[in-house]
Amino acid sequence: MKLAALSAIALPVLVSAHGIRDVHHARQASAAASSPAASAATSSAPAASASGAATAATGAATPAASGPGSLTFTLSSTNPSAVPLTEIASGMSSAPTVPASTTFAAGSTPTFLPNAPPLPNALSLNPANYPPLDKTPPIDSPEVQQWIKEVNASGIQIPDFSPTVAGGCPTNPDAVNDQSRCWWTCGGCAAADDIEQCPDKMTWGLTYDDGPALYTGELLSYLDQANLKATFFVVGSRALSYPALLQEEYMAQHQIAVHTWSHPPMTTLSNEQIIAELGWTKKIIKDVLGVTPTFWRPPYGDVDNRVRAIAKAMGLQTSIWTRISAEATFDTGDFDIAGGLTTSTQVLNNWENIIGNATTIDHGFIVLEHDLFQQTVDIATGYILPDALAHQPPFKIEPIISCLNKPLQDAYIETNDNASNPIGMSSAASAGVPSASDGAHTTSSQTGASATGSASSAEASGNSSGASANGNNSAMGIAAPSSMGAIALALVSGVVALFM
Ligand SMILES: [Zn+2]
Repeated sequence: MKLAALSAIALPVLVSAHGIRDVHHARQASAAASSPAASAATSSAPAASASGAATAATGAATPAASGPGSLTFTLSSTNPSAVPLTEIASGMSSAPTVPASTTFAAGSTPTFLPNAPPLPNALSLNPANYPPLDKTPPIDSPEVQQWIKEVNASGIQIPDFSPTVAGGCPTNPDAVNDQSRCWWTCGGCAAADDIEQCPDKMTWGLTYDDGPALYTGELLSYLDQANLKATFFVVGSRALSYPALLQEEYMAQHQIAVHTWSHPPMTTLSNEQIIAELGWTKKIIKDVLGVTPTFWRPPYGDVDNRVRAIAKAMGLQTSIWTRISAEATFDTGDFDIAGGLTTSTQVLNNWENIIGNATTIDHGFIVLEHDLFQQTVDIATGYILPDALAHQPPFKIEPIISCLNKPLQDAYIETNDNASNPIGMSSAASAGVPSASDGAHTTSSQTGASATGSASSAEASGNSSGASANGNNSAMGIAAPSSMGAIALALVSGVVALFM
């Protein structure tokens, strides 16, 4: 029951940052709950689908409502083997996970990527050579000290802002009002080179955050069968836990990008801690794949000009998601199903609002979704992606790097020729930082033991904003640094059973 307490206290903090704004886009009235197709589709679906049949279903199958509220529209299509919407909920029974489908031999060549180095041996990773999982890495290691030197030598000016304090916008009024800080989370300020959208209308930059995790394999299977490529914003701690899945993502030609080591709200960290979070994530990805990403996404979208400058000095392009107003951000809210803070029905209503807005704007878009939880994968493969694939007029669905009309080589330092994608000055050096060999600052056995402890600390530091499930987002809080780690640790260490 520890996670029940966690979801009641810590997750409301998460939701307001991940949260859905109250988007009103009444594109279609709905008779969803009474549709005969709905009950047929849902009642015939298997209880748990580990491998999504990717071919888009024919016909308009409208799922039954789940939890409070009902669907306000009719989906264009659903996956015939979708998990029924009513079962995609907090506490759902666990479906079998899908392990990496292939183990790639060390030295395999990514032939799709010109000049890519051979694939490293992912099985040789020694956790003792990396920081503890799901905590901001210490800054006194030789690696972080080297990365600090490189940032200092990059020539990129780092603004002298103090870190924000936990609690987000309400607890940082001065930072919110400081326009020079350009804090995206609080006010939506984007820098000129932030990636918030795709340039071409009806083009969707498909992204999944926070993995690789237990159900990423199911998502990869669906994407493969549907011939879709995505951008995966990878948490470094998860990459160390699931290197074979990360290799599978990469070898399937998805774009791999950085999402920090432990998923903190980055504006709360010191410069050195930001460098440690980004540096270790770049390093684990290079150690698993042989290449280093050139794109990153801040957890919770929490980025200001200080964080942006450090990321740039480390060769990382800041990428967020589309926000056309305070009320209309392209966040499905899928992250909050597992914690019971929203329903799968609400997420699909959010999705309908998103694609309604997407068809009216004169540029493409980027949507926030996750591959961390079974619920997020089930709703993506069962409903969101089939609906998108059947949409008329059609969406062009592709990774961010492709929607920007750049070649996949530009997504990695080692293969980027800088011609169309100039990156920070220290990035080449960062890509070559030697491996740690002392292991002095890490332990390899912390995974399970600290899960409950982290959950407790998340409770202690949480605040509440109970209105999140209905889509309101006024508090704009930012998660306590340990909240996400607690959830991820719980998943990794098998505490997932506590969700049941
Ligand atoms: Zn995230």
